[in-house]
Amino acid sequence: MNLFLVVPCYNEEEVLPDTAKKLLAKMEALCSSGAITQGSIVFVDDGSKDGTWAIIERLHGENERFRGIRLSRNRGHQNALLAGLLTVKSECDAAVSLDADLQDDIDAIDVMLEKYKEGYEIVYGVRSDRKKDSAFKRTTAIAFYKLMRAMGVELVYNHADFRLMGRRALDALETFPEVNIFLRGMVPMIGFKSATVEYVRGVRLAGESKYPFRKMLEFSFEGITSLSVKPIRVITTVGILMFLFSLGYLVYSLVRYFCGFTVPGWTSTVISIWAVGGLNMLSLGIIGEYIGKIYLETKKRPRYIIDTYLGGDLPKDRA
Ligand code: UDP
Ligand code: MG
Repeated sequence: MNLFLVVPCYNEEEVLPDTAKKLLAKMEALCSSGAITQGSIVFVDDGSKDGTWAIIERLHGENERFRGIRLSRNRGHQNALLAGLLTVKSECDAAVSLDADLQDDIDAIDVMLEKYKEGYEIVYGVRSDRKKDSAFKRTTAIAFYKLMRAMGVELVYNHADFRLMGRRALDALETFPEVNIFLRGMVPMIGFKSATVEYVRGVRLAGESKYPFRKMLEFSFEGITSLSVKPIRVITTVGILMFLFSLGYLVYSLVRYFCGFTVPGWTSTVISIWAVGGLNMLSLGIIGEYIGKIYLETKKRPRYIIDTYLGGDLPKDRA
């Protein structure tokens, strides 16, 4: 079988040489053990500003197992990954996606392949513990999964983007035309026979996280509003409750009025104006968010544009 490793890279010059060496050794080992017959490693340069592309070019020159895809600009991890997967899709039997910093345990790939051979089309890498993450990263990550679940996005718990997808799953992924992509939420929608593989997530080899807290927040917001309409339903429910409450309050004030207690309720008036105003703004904001997405989706802009592809032919519709 032909296996591809797809690695998105954004400003990863510090880790890339080391990562490449380890991945190459892994590929050679998998080939000699007979687990795979062919294997390639595809680095997707997501518009890096450092020497990442130069390193990829050098690697490709040294060994043809290495391939490079250079995006025309930075499009974010998810788009870079999608670019890689869809570019190699027509050549591979299965593709494993993983981060350039090798925080994911590459030995789990062996088990993923076994599962694939048992007939699983998608194999999710799931971290068994987060001891090596900082307490802050850990708590925010747990809050992230809880929030996503509550907002109606189906996620595999503790699974990031380390996963094996067979050719059929990749073909299915291509039929999702959406522009706002959140692969972790989209892949479970594909279905097929799926399995999970546990591994221990390590620390970054070098360099710093390309996912600071702000990006994580943006990412979860993106995930929720791209995949779920639950926030709109929550707003509707809050709206109905507020309306019922105001009816009750109306009855209450009329009763007080007819009983002669006509003390001007300035405080409560001002407070309720602000409360209702605030809620209105919030609701409009969230609705605006969805409308904004609809606007972007209707434009059908490309999700990524490839500048250069080292090592293979681009699929016909992309060449
Ligand atoms: N990445 C990318 N484009 C971006 C940001 C990140 O392709 O705009 C890649 C990055 O090179 C790495 C992966 O996404 O391979 C995950 O990033 P990182 O390890 O910094 O995230 P963390 O592990 O801290 O969540
Ligand atoms: Mg990382």
